[in-house]
Amino acid sequence: MATKQLRVPVLPVTEMEQGAFCRSEDDLLAKPLVEEMKANVNWQKIPDHYLNLSPTELDEKIKSSRDTLGKRVVLLGHHYQREEVIKYADLQGDSFKLSQYASQQETAEYIVFLGVHFMAETADILSHLQQKVILPNMSAGCSMADMATTEDVLDCWSDLCSVLGPEAVTPITYMNSTADIKALCGRNNGAVCTSSNAKAVMQWAFNQKPKILFLPDEHLGRNTALELGVTPEEIVVWNPYKPYGGLTENELALSKVILWRGHCAVHTRFRPQQIIAARSKYSNVKVIVHPECPQDVIAAADFNGSTEKIISAVNDSEPGSVWGVGTEINLVHRLQVNNPDKIIFCLDPVVCPCSTMYRIHPAYVAWVLDQLVADAPCNIISVPDDIKVQAREALERMLQITNSSAVD
Ligand code: SF4
Repeated sequence: MATKQLRVPVLPVTEMEQGAFCRSEDDLLAKPLVEEMKANVNWQKIPDHYLNLSPTELDEKIKSSRDTLGKRVVLLGHHYQREEVIKYADLQGDSFKLSQYASQQETAEYIVFLGVHFMAETADILSHLQQKVILPNMSAGCSMADMATTEDVLDCWSDLCSVLGPEAVTPITYMNSTADIKALCGRNNGAVCTSSNAKAVMQWAFNQKPKILFLPDEHLGRNTALELGVTPEEIVVWNPYKPYGGLTENELALSKVILWRGHCAVHTRFRPQQIIAARSKYSNVKVIVHPECPQDVIAAADFNGSTEKIISAVNDSEPGSVWGVGTEINLVHRLQVNNPDKIIFCLDPVVCPCSTMYRIHPAYVAWVLDQLVADAPCNIISVPDDIKVQAREALERMLQITNSSAVD
């Protein structure tokens, strides 16, 4: 392998800002935006008069804009949004379901995405040409997606092709990645996956080529590979800040799965000790966690699955069931409210919402809708055409794989 320079590690801003909204008391009620802006994170600037509006004033504004716009606009909301935002969603889902909803919108001229940047990009890739996708706050990114920059991933791909040959590796990216990374997978015969179909997509990839590059979530990649019988010795982690990912030629040759070193700031807060504490408090507790959690947490839990799988496991359980849940706090709260006959709690004792999802404050929703009423749309997410075509290819490949295999 040729000699390469060491790169300086750069932590994404979104990762550094993750703790900004964590608190010890159980209070996630929205405050006027001017108050919330005191949290030390990046906020998109919007006109001053939105900053002090009360929840009631924002409600009225949003309702009035929606009445004016009618079917010209549809609002899609991710499950991790807070109550004061998700209530405006016409359709709710996890990132996979929302991408399907985006592709099914026939009449709406505008899709307002109550989620984060990569989801809005996916909606733009899958929606009709004439539709515009709007993200209410442009600083609502995703720390995991930000950990796989285009430059670093292109570098990694060219290194892998030069060391292992172009026919050795299939690139797979988790939905939680930028359009550029999805496009790289599309043009190199790879695919996108979600937490509900990662196993099927990985299995498909092993039928194509001997190795997989899995981006950008190290934990989902490892958990899925182990489930498919790949041994820990056959899994390596690519560190983008080291030459050749910090791996030797031999390690790469022996590996079956090359994991990108990325993670979710929310799901890596969970620890096996929290599960031990839950079991000692409730002898009959069932523990369910998201597969973005580290492997030792998955091993200690009773079940793991996508956001939609967590929702149906809890909703479909017997009255009186006790659930310790390892996923985003706004969703866990909603499960508690919707299942008053069960005990449901978050495994993490600290109330710590996803800080980028949390940036979709109702004031931003009011602002972007007002702009639509004024025929001056703002915050349009527009993926360049060439990237769109290639990323769509990776997404469509995922859908074909999912449709032709049983997905749990
Ligand atoms: S929960 Fe994790 S993966 Fe999802 S948007 Fe937040 S940081 Fe990204």
